[in-house]
Amino acid sequence: MLQLVMLGTGHAMVTKCYNTCFTIENDNESIMIDAGGGNGILTQVEKAGLDWSKIRALFVTHAHTDHILGAIWVLRKVNTLIKQNKYTEFFKVYGLAENLNYLKYNCVFLLNDSLSDHIQFIPTFGEDKFTECGMEFEIININSTKQTQLGFRAVIRNYDKPLTLVCLGDEPCHQTCEEYVKDADWLLSEAFCLRNDKEIFHPYEKNHSTAYDAGLMAEKLGVKNLVLYHTEDSDLENRARKYTQEAMQNFKGNVFVPDDLQVIRIL
Ligand SMILES: [Zn+2]
Repeated sequence: MLQLVMLGTGHAMVTKCYNTCFTIENDNESIMIDAGGGNGILTQVEKAGLDWSKIRALFVTHAHTDHILGAIWVLRKVNTLIKQNKYTEFFKVYGLAENLNYLKYNCVFLLNDSLSDHIQFIPTFGEDKFTECGMEFEIININSTKQTQLGFRAVIRNYDKPLTLVCLGDEPCHQTCEEYVKDADWLLSEAFCLRNDKEIFHPYEKNHSTAYDAGLMAEKLGVKNLVLYHTEDSDLENRARKYTQEAMQNFKGNVFVPDDLQVIRIL
């Protein structure tokens, strides 16, 4: 079984949902992508019914607060489980070297505890490759204008035919990333707000985009399934319907605008 568990779906300053982060579960093992901005990650993992011992790795896209601070709590949790002999595998943390150093330093400083050597920090940069949970990851430097940020293209081969899943972190697709996105079976893309609301939320000032833009880009690049996240939270009740409608003005594939804790079954 292959599925996404959306632990959070909001942008940095949301108050009605958690910050964007999720797990990709393949054959009963998961990798967590970002961890949101704090201790709420523990709540989201518990509410989603995830078993920490099945989460094998964490991938940190970049060092903004809404993505990396929750990682300190993830490491605290996993470190405790390892010390209690409740987590027996190695736990791997992937990300830019400077961000991993930040995490290591802050875990020791803030938690006043040493990290087990069963937690392995693996520096990664654009074009690096690794295999995790049976998925082949190719790392993408998304060419952020703000701070170096990573995305990935994952190829999953343990089903009838290979399937590609691309994540672009929390920024729109840069021209240099189009080759990675082209013909993807699944694309996870930010959509900060609706085009209709751009004068309210100013997505372009923060190098974000709208549901309309994400649909346009996904159609141009031949994507089959589009997941939109990292949104504002002014109308969560109608978010899925409105964002889907707007993305579909340009995009002919399937659109998913998940709520927090929603599970998107892929296979
Ligand atoms: Zn963000």
